[in-house]
Amino acid sequence: MPVTRTWAAQHAASDAGVAGSGGRWNGQFYALLQHLAENHPGTVEGGETDPAGGGDQDDTTVGRTDPCPGRDGADDCLAGVAPMTGQVPLKVTASHLERLACLYVRQSTLRQVFENSESTKRQYGLKTKALSLGWSEEQVCVIDCDLGQSGASGDREGFKQLVADVGLGQVGIVMGLEVSRLARNSSDWQRLLEICALTRTLILDEDGIYDPATFNDRLLLGLKGTISEAELHVIRARLQGGLIAKARRGELKFRLPIGFVHDTRDRIVLDPDQRVQASIQLFFDTFQRLGGAGAIVREFHAKALTFPRRIFSGPHKGEVMFTKLTLSRATQILRNPRYSGAYVYGIREQVFRGLDQRPAVRYRSQDQWQVLIKDAHAGYISWAQYEVNCQRLADNCQRNGATVPREGPALLQGIVVCGCCGGTMSVRYHSRRGKSRSADYCCKGPHANFARVHCQSIPGDAIEELIGELLLAKMQPAVLEVALAVQQELQDRLGEADRIRYQHVEQARYEMDAARQRYLAIDPHNRLVAGELEAHWNDTIGAYRSAQATYEQQRAADQLLLSDQQQQSIRELCNDFPAVWNNPATPDRERKRMVRLLIEDVTLVKDDDIKIQIRFKGGAVETHHLPLPQSAWVERKHSPEVIQAIDDLLDEHTDSEVASILNQRGMCSGTGLAFDARRVAVTRRHYRIPSRRTRLRKKGFLTIAEICEKFKVKRWTVYEWRKKGKLVAHRIDDVGRYLYDTSTNITVSTQEV
Ligand SMILES: [Zn+2]
Repeated sequence: MPVTRTWAAQHAASDAGVAGSGGRWNGQFYALLQHLAENHPGTVEGGETDPAGGGDQDDTTVGRTDPCPGRDGADDCLAGVAPMTGQVPLKVTASHLERLACLYVRQSTLRQVFENSESTKRQYGLKTKALSLGWSEEQVCVIDCDLGQSGASGDREGFKQLVADVGLGQVGIVMGLEVSRLARNSSDWQRLLEICALTRTLILDEDGIYDPATFNDRLLLGLKGTISEAELHVIRARLQGGLIAKARRGELKFRLPIGFVHDTRDRIVLDPDQRVQASIQLFFDTFQRLGGAGAIVREFHAKALTFPRRIFSGPHKGEVMFTKLTLSRATQILRNPRYSGAYVYGIREQVFRGLDQRPAVRYRSQDQWQVLIKDAHAGYISWAQYEVNCQRLADNCQRNGATVPREGPALLQGIVVCGCCGGTMSVRYHSRRGKSRSADYCCKGPHANFARVHCQSIPGDAIEELIGELLLAKMQPAVLEVALAVQQELQDRLGEADRIRYQHVEQARYEMDAARQRYLAIDPHNRLVAGELEAHWNDTIGAYRSAQATYEQQRAADQLLLSDQQQQSIRELCNDFPAVWNNPATPDRERKRMVRLLIEDVTLVKDDDIKIQIRFKGGAVETHHLPLPQSAWVERKHSPEVIQAIDDLLDEHTDSEVASILNQRGMCSGTGLAFDARRVAVTRRHYRIPSRRTRLRKKGFLTIAEICEKFKVKRWTVYEWRKKGKLVAHRIDDVGRYLYDTSTNITVSTQEV
């Protein structure tokens, strides 16, 4: 025991020295390692540093431990422990034996659990070791709920339970076949060591017993943990390296997507089932026609078509069944390069998203793919078509700007940007002024998730009219001629550049020929000079080839400019454009595609007026302003002339007469409708124009009742007078009511009476 204390003290001192100066560290480290290698069994002899259990340890442990346990089968698994078994009791004390012995059993995968059963047996076999060290059968606790869990995974319930039990001081010894069973990463391992040291818990593996509270054992266990972590890395790197090397040769086999099968010689061929082939061909044709994954799905559903899928498990494994096509599946197929006959590896990667770090799969960009072998096998589309499809999918994606053109009439759907917040503006349809689907462009703004008010909403009718006019103006033959003339100019300049570039090639060819001549002229026995000239000749050949390749490359790029035939077809298209654009039979979706060919996006801002910024393909920008549309009630107001006319006409005419006069004059209501008696009456009341009756009463005209009262006659007498013209009467409405003017006829009337 005194020996141990001295040793520990020495190392505690040297440890302090280590911390102090880095320079001495390396030498001391190796000395320490050597010391450990030589003396590790020796540490056992004085491994105890437990002051509490120090007094009675020897008697108890020696008494309860079999120093040389019976050599039964189970002990073979601990062959490595044999040299130190005689000294083990010195480490195991009474306080350890009072507590539990935890046996931690783990296999990385379920497959290993079934196929690698020997390792599992060996792990369970450690239990007999605990019994031989003095623990009773009831005290041994086997934790095997992590079978099938990788040591690197963070959610091992059994390991957590083990750490918790150790932390509570209930465990006297932790047993695992080797360190890698307990933990594959340093943080887990060091945490376990720390807690074991605090609670005086021993650790046992196939090689021996360790007390993490002592410096030596702690250091050794730490090294073992580090090596275990490194081992995992090496294993993984080796396996991954093998996989990638095989994939680079195109020989790594994967599960094939529907439509492909392996033939008898393991080559990839199209599925011989004609129904499968036809479905996939139709799928790609539909995408080419409609241009969206969602559109294919809708089309398949509308025509009640199903799509094949292969079953990969269960009793029907390997069979093909036809199910409804889903959007996710459609997108997967469109993005899968194998349909173009390419062999690929590493095109997707796992990423972790959100606060809870949910795992998700992300497609890598093409330059990050680990392996790409084009035309490795037969395919349904060409590689060029695959790239076009991917580009189209990316264009359809809302995150990348424009969305796929849909059936609605809103011309700018998917390409309108909010000038206030930069978000994409969506379309809202409603009926307005007899037009069944009138579009508004709305920005829900950055606050949409918080149920806040919208950013801005702009009626689309005027904007779309403007865009239509602009496009027609842009596609005028005169404008196009200018563009073609500019193009011709460019072509001419390219011709000059081509001549200059060709001169470089000529020069390189001349130098190459000259070098060749010089080489041929020299005496071949003059080896030194001949070697020099040959090297020069080789250089000139390289320079000539490089110049030739550059020239060809440039020339091919120039060829991309328009030929005469292409120019002619563009002119014809331009002449047809207004007819196609204005043809009501042209679907809105096609009209939108035409817009997108010319316009990149449109930015809208509603302020004192509507500011419209149009960005054309190629980068030109135009800004236009439109007046703010008036609100509905203002738009429905009658014009002041109509109101004035009604006011004037009511002096002499009834409502129906006013209506017919207004109609004769070609005046209509604020909503563009013709007048009738009812509409005049409503307008009169709405604009507070006095009615004809009110006007006449104001002038002192009397009702028939008042006339009867005044002259003490019956009503029929008054009718008679009116018919004979003895009383002046004015019609006040369209049902034949009158008011009577007595100011002129009153004397006559009285005499009559
Ligand atoms: Zn906005």
